[in-house]
Amino acid sequence: MKKISILGVTGSIGTQTLDVLRYHKDKFELVGISAHKNVGLTLEIIKEFKPKVVAITYEDSYNKLKKILEKENIECELIFGIDGLNKVATLEEIEIVVTSVVGMIGLEPTLKAIEAKKHIALANKETLVVAGELVMRKAKENSVKILPVDSEHSAIFQCLQGNFHNKIDKILLTASGGPFRGKTLEDLKKVTVKDALKHPNWSMGRKITIDSSTLMNKGLEVIEAHFLFDCPYDDIEVIVHPESIVHSMVQYTDGAVMAQLGVPDMKLPIQYALNYPNREGNVERKLDFSTISKLNFEKPDMDVFKCLKLAYKAGKLGGLMPTIVNAANEVLVELFLEERISYLDIGNIIEEIMNIFEYKEEITLENVINKDKKVREYIYKKYNS
Ligand code: NDP
Ligand code: MG
Repeated sequence: MKKISILGVTGSIGTQTLDVLRYHKDKFELVGISAHKNVGLTLEIIKEFKPKVVAITYEDSYNKLKKILEKENIECELIFGIDGLNKVATLEEIEIVVTSVVGMIGLEPTLKAIEAKKHIALANKETLVVAGELVMRKAKENSVKILPVDSEHSAIFQCLQGNFHNKIDKILLTASGGPFRGKTLEDLKKVTVKDALKHPNWSMGRKITIDSSTLMNKGLEVIEAHFLFDCPYDDIEVIVHPESIVHSMVQYTDGAVMAQLGVPDMKLPIQYALNYPNREGNVERKLDFSTISKLNFEKPDMDVFKCLKLAYKAGKLGGLMPTIVNAANEVLVELFLEERISYLDIGNIIEEIMNIFEYKEEITLENVINKDKKVREYIYKKYNS
């Protein structure tokens, strides 16, 4: 039995990981979980999977769950806050941690897990965006595998199997283009929260759904790919592929292109990460090539989808600039979801923030946390009115 923990068990990736565990009942044991607000679902998961340790990061939910567990006489260790996340990520008996919390809150427990020599099934892309250099260095020092769960990075990782000794020419990172593919800046002025939450191919958490619509998600993925695969930014090309069937590709120096294809279902990359290096498991749907008449590819429009351009720029500037952009994006998406700023403000304010904050600093956990905090405070003060 492989023993695992899941950070962010109540989310889209977390619950799909549970589906994978249900399918592989005899292979995995869930020992630790974390959740934020969702008490009802956490309770159901505790009853079904009987984890030993549960972390809750939202105080109200922690208190509610504590009372229920006592009343129903359910035994498990319940811990509040970041201490809980860190504990769940470093439990003695676990081998692998699925990091599926949303946002840079995932960084500290991921680093702690790496130091405790746990392999990481990494969904939480913000972790690599804000401190990729640090995370990858620590992983190397501790001989820990970072197994990508993000579908594009899982695809690239799969295309690299058996080829780690070969030089690559470029990574071709595919993007669905989101719900606003082909739109003009004028069209985007009127975008509502409801419009932006309608993703054509994937059903995901709210933050990543908005990021997918602005193409910031693709920008974060470019930075994620840069660190995961040690690939220069100029050798990472984003290609819009609206069908989301080709999940990404690798072009080698001899001109050969390897691609990974499959239905758009996150259970596929999740189970690949958990079973790596083996291919085991199942998904409900599989590709039926007799029904696919065309696969389309086009260049992204970086003037309309400014966030992608800004993410490339942040990655190339390096230092703490990706941290600054990530922090700004996290807060601005939240403000957009609360209808406090307009859709186009997200990119415009990120551009403004990039010119304000000093970024040439060493990437340490402390510096990343401080910079993240400063950017958040600045934006809340100026725009949360
Ligand atoms: P969701 O919003 O669906 O889930 C987020 C999870 O994190 C929930 O368990 C939530 O708890 C918890 N959480 C929320 N806020 C906090 C906080 N402040 N502190 C600690 N925990 C918190 O997100 P997704 O599952 O969609 O995404 C998770 C990560 O995976 C993101 O980094 C995303 O970019 C990445 N990813 C997601 C994909 C997808 O298909 N969804 C695809 C590729 C990558 P609760 O629900 O209890 O409040
Ligand atoms: Mg992705």
